[in-house]
Amino acid sequence: MSSVPVPSDLPKEAKVQWMTKNMNKFCVLPWINLHTSPNGYIKLCCSIQYNSYILNETDTPFNFGHDSIEKIWNSGFMRYVRETHRENKGFSACNECYNVEKISGHSPRMGQNDEWIRRKEKDAFTAEAVDDIAREDVLDLERLPLSLELRLGNLCNLQCVTCYGLSSSPIYDERQTQLNNGDVDGPQLAWLKKMWVNEKNLVDEADVKNWYETDMFYENFRKIAPKLKRLYTTGGEPTLIKANYKMMQMLLDAGNTDCAIEFTSNMANWNYEFYSRLEKFKNVEIQMSLDGAGEVGGYIRYPSDLNRVKENIMKAAEMASTRPNWKVKCYTVLQVLNYRHILPIWEILREAADAHSKHIDWWPITLYSPPQLSLGAITIEKRLAWLKEFKLLAAEFNSKVSYFRINDSTMTPCIDSIKNPEYSEELNKQLKQYVQVLDKSRKLNGVELFKEELS
Ligand code: SF4
Repeated sequence: MSSVPVPSDLPKEAKVQWMTKNMNKFCVLPWINLHTSPNGYIKLCCSIQYNSYILNETDTPFNFGHDSIEKIWNSGFMRYVRETHRENKGFSACNECYNVEKISGHSPRMGQNDEWIRRKEKDAFTAEAVDDIAREDVLDLERLPLSLELRLGNLCNLQCVTCYGLSSSPIYDERQTQLNNGDVDGPQLAWLKKMWVNEKNLVDEADVKNWYETDMFYENFRKIAPKLKRLYTTGGEPTLIKANYKMMQMLLDAGNTDCAIEFTSNMANWNYEFYSRLEKFKNVEIQMSLDGAGEVGGYIRYPSDLNRVKENIMKAAEMASTRPNWKVKCYTVLQVLNYRHILPIWEILREAADAHSKHIDWWPITLYSPPQLSLGAITIEKRLAWLKEFKLLAAEFNSKVSYFRINDSTMTPCIDSIKNPEYSEELNKQLKQYVQVLDKSRKLNGVELFKEELS
């Protein structure tokens, strides 16, 4: 299926849908979306492999805070990427998508293709933009991106065990201290030291603070704002970042209250400046990122107060309950430390959903990085033994009377993500070392808390 010609007799409005069904490497996003990394460098989307940025003619990454949107959007790089997708040749930076499809049968590529075909029904402008994807004669796109995914720097309030310095300022500080103190010195931890030194260099070389406050950043956003259909923001923690309220204000000033606002929050914080603007938009998706409840959640999402998180989840469900086009979703990154602790997360979500009669969806995400927390660090036998019990316990959450429901469409990818990764003894060793290093720095006892997983 490397290069499949689109049947020429198909009507214009059916061609892209045909491509999504018949091409296994085709994705609509190169015509629709841009994504910024915390340093302002740009990728096609959040699933694109690390460091695979959109490059200018000197092979330097474009920066959303320093280059004009027209230059980025119609660069030679973008033209080339569009051609590879339209011809189903596959683009190397999209390998993450192709690989995850093999493991789970699902991928962001498939999800985004479906999503934008669905969005054609909503408005003529989107329909025309999507239909034009099949046109080979259009080299420069006059329409600017319809969707932006912005990761604005690394300002954050938490130090999640899965995170790194480029996305979390306190993690950067913590690891810098640990490196200075020699906490990861010695041959046993050489792998972790190497990872952290690379990470530190990356943050030191990058501007993770100023690029989203430049005139060019706001000028780019001002040009895109009137027709923007989707603004997704994350951080760091997006509710803490001022540029997010400023962008929402620019959309409101442009009269674009239809733009779908999506954001991922750790829910450890409730910022009035952010939510008072948010409530003026018609279409909102609150994506809560919850990787554990109770002590497990506090360890993974250090140093969050899970009671506070629960209160904020309640507030979000309440706010959304009076707004029919608002969605509340929760994502859990499945990893070694939480794959046995999913049910308490569901209990919190069910309580909030039922208290406010608002549907809350839950989706699992497969973790690949850092590799020592991936499920490949646990033997397959252990994972399968847990899955037996898990399936029985999960049945209680498949009830039609609740506003929170886990059915087969969520259970299947969840089970696949837990059972499919190949076991690695090396990762298992690194996992144990990593938890010990975290315990030492944070004065916690993860070795005891996760003794089942680490045994
Ligand atoms: S194929 Fe996947 S990685 Fe590539 S642009 Fe689409 S969603 Fe992103």
